[in-house]
Formats: sequence, structure tokens, C-alpha cells
Amino acid sequence: MDENCIFCKIINGQIPSTKIYENDYVYAFLDIMPVNKGHTLVVPKKHSKNLLEDDVEDLKHCVEAVQKIAPAIVRAVEADGFNLGVNTNKAAGQAVFHTHFHIIPRHEEDGLRPWPQRKYDEGEIDPVKEKIIKALEK
Ligand code: 5GP
Ligand code: ZN
Repeated sequence: MDENCIFCKIINGQIPSTKIYENDYVYAFLDIMPVNKGHTLVVPKKHSKNLLEDDVEDLKHCVEAVQKIAPAIVRAVEADGFNLGVNTNKAAGQAVFHTHFHIIPRHEEDGLRPWPQRKYDEGEIDPVKEKIIKALEK
């Protein structure tokens, strides 16, 4: 528990939430500002700042919960699919620094695009690959 963390406060009931599922490791509740109705946050009960700082067993529990919850959300809101999102660091849109997975129900005609894509210039892709492989060695 981090006493300054809004999601820790939600998990222990200090702040109200619309809970849809809970087990020993995971708490899932509706996002207060949904992309689409049914947008859900799946959070590990143990505080960690982001995905990279959470331990892998904890993440497994989250993914297990996602597998259980996401199909139920899709059925409940009559969606056609869902996006699973984990924003990591401010530059990627992370606003709450307690690890969480977004389950965003999607409808064929909802008009949303996940993100814009662009092309590599000629000869640009290989240096990027090399840098990543080198970084993996560290
Ligand atoms: P992030 O941008 O960090 O990936 O996502 C944080 C999410 O938490 C946002 O989508 C935001 O709407 C949601 N959120 C922030 N504060 C609260 C809250 O007090 N209650 C609920 N249910 N959701 C919250
Ligand atoms: Zn927390």
C-alpha cells in the first residue's frame, strides 16, 4: 500500500469505485472516464509503479483476470472486441502510477483508431533493430 496512491485507496475502500471483480491478487473496476462503456481497469492489489516494476507472478494474475473479465465485458456491452492497454510512463499517457491494465470494449463502428502509424524511411529499420538488440544485452 502506497498511502499517496489513488488506486491503493480504491483497493482498500478509502475511495469508492464501481467494482466488477476481485480475488486475492487483483481488483477490477470501471474507469471513471471510459473510452467506451464498460472500460475497465484491472489492477494488482500489491502496489507497483508500473508494469516493469511489478513482479511477473503478479502480472500473471492480472492477465488471468483479463482472460476471465474481458469476454464478460464484451458480452455485457454487446461489443465486437476489446483493446488491452498498459500505458507505461508519462510520455505514453500513464497518469496513475500503480500498474493497471485497461480493457476497452470496441464496437465495429465506434470510430476509434488505436494509434496513427507511419513508415520507416529507406535503410532506417535495421539500425533500429541493431540498437534494440544491443540494449537487450545490457
Ligand atoms: P492511465 O492514464 O494512468 O493509463 O489510466 C488511468 C485511468 O484511471 C484513466 O483512464 C482515468 O480515467 C482512471 N481514473 C483516474 N482516477 C480514477 C478514479 O478515481 N476512479 C476510477 N474509477 N477511475 C479513475
Ligand atoms: Zn498503489
